Amino acid sequence: MKLASGTTVISNGQLIDCTGAPPIPQGTVVIKDGRILYAGAGEGAPEVPPEAEHIDARGGTILPGLVEAHFHATYFNVEKLEDLDIKYPVEYVTLLASVNCKLALDCGYTSARSGGCLFNCDVWLKTAIENDLIPGPRLSTSGREICSAGGLMDWNPEFRKIGMDGLVFCINGVEDARKAVRALVKDGVEWVKTYPTGDAAWPDVNDHHTLCMTFEEMHAVVATAHNHKLKVTGHCRATEGIKNALRAGYDAVEHATFIDDEGLDLLLSRKVPVCPGLQFELASINNGPAYKMSQQVIDGHQETLEGGAESARRILRGGGIVGMGGDYGFAWNPHGHYARELTFFVNYVGFTPMETLVCATRHGAEMMGRSHEFGTLEAGKLGDVLVVEGDVLKDISLLENRENILAVLQGGVLKAGKLAPYQVAQIPASGA
Ligand SMILES: [Zn+2]
Repeated sequence: MKLASGTTVISNGQLIDCTGAPPIPQGTVVIKDGRILYAGAGEGAPEVPPEAEHIDARGGTILPGLVEAHFHATYFNVEKLEDLDIKYPVEYVTLLASVNCKLALDCGYTSARSGGCLFNCDVWLKTAIENDLIPGPRLSTSGREICSAGGLMDWNPEFRKIGMDGLVFCINGVEDARKAVRALVKDGVEWVKTYPTGDAAWPDVNDHHTLCMTFEEMHAVVATAHNHKLKVTGHCRATEGIKNALRAGYDAVEHATFIDDEGLDLLLSRKVPVCPGLQFELASINNGPAYKMSQQVIDGHQETLEGGAESARRILRGGGIVGMGGDYGFAWNPHGHYARELTFFVNYVGFTPMETLVCATRHGAEMMGRSHEFGTLEAGKLGDVLVVEGDVLKDISLLENRENILAVLQGGVLKAGKLAPYQVAQIPASGA
């Protein structure tokens, strides 16, 4: 991804650098050749050349670009889970996913960590974004997801004989686990996404207290992935599933819904990051009836919401890393509303707005292993900056509305928001 050349000054707004420091009422950010030269009080800002570009924050808020910590670019707002496998071919899924990437950037998300994808789309989306062919967040890629046969993601009956080429490797035992990871190694992904546990979505045989992989399978995934320098994460709701993942050496845990004291100790001692992804639960409760979810499913989502909120509080208070993101891409929780997660954490979980913003930026970058590059507004980091109208510490829900997004910069380039110029498509370089 190209960096801007020259100098850009963003001023006339409250500066939240997301290091955890208090906000600066009249802050200025100076970006030189795509990197932050200065972020601090307006009066301390360095002199800039006369040709420098100026962005007026209009008395609003200047903060780091947001990080979606559990992004499914290829989930196309499905109405039924099985649509992920059978509704569209790879060609159309890819187009839909590229639209979702643009949408995420338009919403102020300059980076995103995938929580799994159909086919091998993430790797190629990332390639297109990094070559400046399509707009989108800096992407941490996943690939097809891994679940044991009969588990949560093995939702298509055998008589359909569809082979599950789209989303999931359905494995039986450690040999299959290794084989799936080796395929992902060849695909070029960064994260291996697994399903150690079930979910409220499938109450009969794979509910949120059910295990969907054996410890041996999980350990085989980790050993094979780590050998090839891939990282492993998993959908972990059930208490034992969370501990299995931590004992198997997982690099991150998605949800960590029903974590107990022992699990919390394991998690915090290795500082394993977590993405709770909880607004999805509220969306399922509120919008589920319109999508024919049974009362049993909705009750399960309610239990998940309450358990997950308590776990998220304990993890953050214990000094853990908590990314903000979660499972947008279902009809009842569609793409484009990523910042609802932040409002949810303030209103329902009880994080302060500042804690929530730090989780949505610095912690997300830590989860991606890229906190040395972005996630805070500090000298030397990439010029990934978000400018929003209004005071987001007073009303975090301002971030939900794209009408409030003034500017989204990546590497100092103004790419989205009301102040962004119309983007002319680039002619791809040969081989790009
Ligand atoms: Zn997910």
